[in-house]
Amino acid sequence: MRNETALVWLRQDLRLTDNRALWEACQTYRTVIPIFIHSPKEYGGWPPGAANRWWLHQTLLSLAQSLQNCGSQLKFFEGSALSVIEQLVAEQNISAVYCNRVNEPALLARDEKIEKQLTRKGVDFFRFNDRTLVDINEIQTKTGSPYKVFTPFYRSWRKQLANQDNAVLPKPKITTFDLTLTNEKQLDTLNLLDSFNWHHKLAHYWQPGEQQALDVSQQFIEQRLPDYTSQRDFLNYQTSRLSAYLQLGVISPKQILAQLVQYEVFPDNSQAEHFVREIAWRDFANSILVHFPKTTDQPLNERYKNFIWHNDNNAKQFLSVWQQGKTGIPIVDAGMRELWATGTMHNRVRMITASLLCKNALIHWLHGARWFWDTLVDADLASNSLNWQWVAGCGADAAPYFRIFNPVTQSKKFDPEGKYIRRWLPELTNLDNKKIHAPHESIKTKSASLSLELGDTNDIPKPIVDLKQSREQAINHYQSQLSHLN
Ligand SMILES: Cc1cc2nc3c(=O)[nH]c(=O)nc-3n(C[C@H](O)[C@H](O)[C@H](O)COP(=O)(O)OP(=O)(O)OC[C@H]3O[C@@H](n4cnc5c(N)ncnc54)[C@H](O)[C@@H]3O)c2cc1C
Repeated sequence: MRNETALVWLRQDLRLTDNRALWEACQTYRTVIPIFIHSPKEYGGWPPGAANRWWLHQTLLSLAQSLQNCGSQLKFFEGSALSVIEQLVAEQNISAVYCNRVNEPALLARDEKIEKQLTRKGVDFFRFNDRTLVDINEIQTKTGSPYKVFTPFYRSWRKQLANQDNAVLPKPKITTFDLTLTNEKQLDTLNLLDSFNWHHKLAHYWQPGEQQALDVSQQFIEQRLPDYTSQRDFLNYQTSRLSAYLQLGVISPKQILAQLVQYEVFPDNSQAEHFVREIAWRDFANSILVHFPKTTDQPLNERYKNFIWHNDNNAKQFLSVWQQGKTGIPIVDAGMRELWATGTMHNRVRMITASLLCKNALIHWLHGARWFWDTLVDADLASNSLNWQWVAGCGADAAPYFRIFNPVTQSKKFDPEGKYIRRWLPELTNLDNKKIHAPHESIKTKSASLSLELGDTNDIPKPIVDLKQSREQAINHYQSQLSHLN
């Protein structure tokens, strides 16, 4: 144990248990100062969105309390991370800075710069992989290049998972002396919360904290995992809801794996295997982000580089109606309203709403990605970019351009009783299970009984697009653009 002081710089690893950087620092240094630096200008154009900032605030509050319970203190700062760290190094005679890896391109570049500066001053800078379940640098093709297709990535990833040490690290004993540091801030003054208090509603759906994350995971394994494969696409089934905890590292993927093992459902249970495969998608997204950093703003598939998306006034109007959940297509509107009310959306509906925007309306996927970025509590640059590009057809292992979700068919299949639609569009409550998926279809065919049956659903806007026509137009547009760009 070195009788000196180390900093633990917490970023997207906001937990005490199974935190490699915190653990290693506490094993080596007698005094450890945990810090968080809010530096929105250093995210390369993707600073945390509004819903995610609310989640960050709640999570930091909870983490600060946990650290206090252990006799330590979480110190908050804002501004340039390099300046804050350099100042602390000088003032507190810091010997080493510990952190866990982040994969956002701008943050990776920042880490490299900080590492150089610190090394020059004789201060150690340690970074550990704690972000993904498997170290993505270990997953390469035989020729040493990164995978662009999920299935072979997964095969290699799964082998690595079976061979690696998956033990979870315990919570370390942390010693921090009572300190007041120059330029230290209070959490409230970081302004993570918007001044307009729109976010109070999110508190009904999300409870921060490490214990909470473990409980959410445990409840899912006990109660819903047995139906995961058969039910996960159905809108009334709740998947694990762990993504927001994973995004800020409130729980590590290894802790989730350990719970599956503890319940004896992994590795020999097909439901758990399927669930772990979804976690592999998260790792795949991180791998694409690290190896193809431009994919936050540009398509992975070069053929789409000069693709012409619609950007006229009609497209702008469409985007606004889509954001407000007023397209007149119930499943889409229900999804967009779920997103606005709760900061999340069922995975299948994310695909359906995104497909309507990028395919039927031919609007650039980045407009959709930006809206999700601002409204999703689990907004994550790797997963959001990968999935939007997947839907738009221009990304890794993407849906082919002619795969265009029909929202009405999807709605009938995955919300057969209309329960999800009724929850988010109460104005449709009185429609029967057949009509609820496409009210205006029944308006056309049974106009005589229409007003009686629809009641106050006369407010329902007409569908903003004709689904059949826009599908054909989209396929023609994609075909002509892609043949042009060959
Ligand atoms: C257009 C679009 C945008 C998306 N944006 C995000 C985002 O910003 N942040 C985010 O975490 N997920 C995103 N996803 C992926 C997915 O919708 C969510 O991870 C999932 O709905 C979270 O719910 P859950 O935790 O209950 O998932 P579960 O089904 O319980 O899955 C367990 C975990 O696996 C991972 N996972 C599952 N599906 C995916 C996937 N398709 N891609 C990557 N990881 C996955 C998540 O970490 C998730 O928590 C997006 C999907 C689409 C189609």
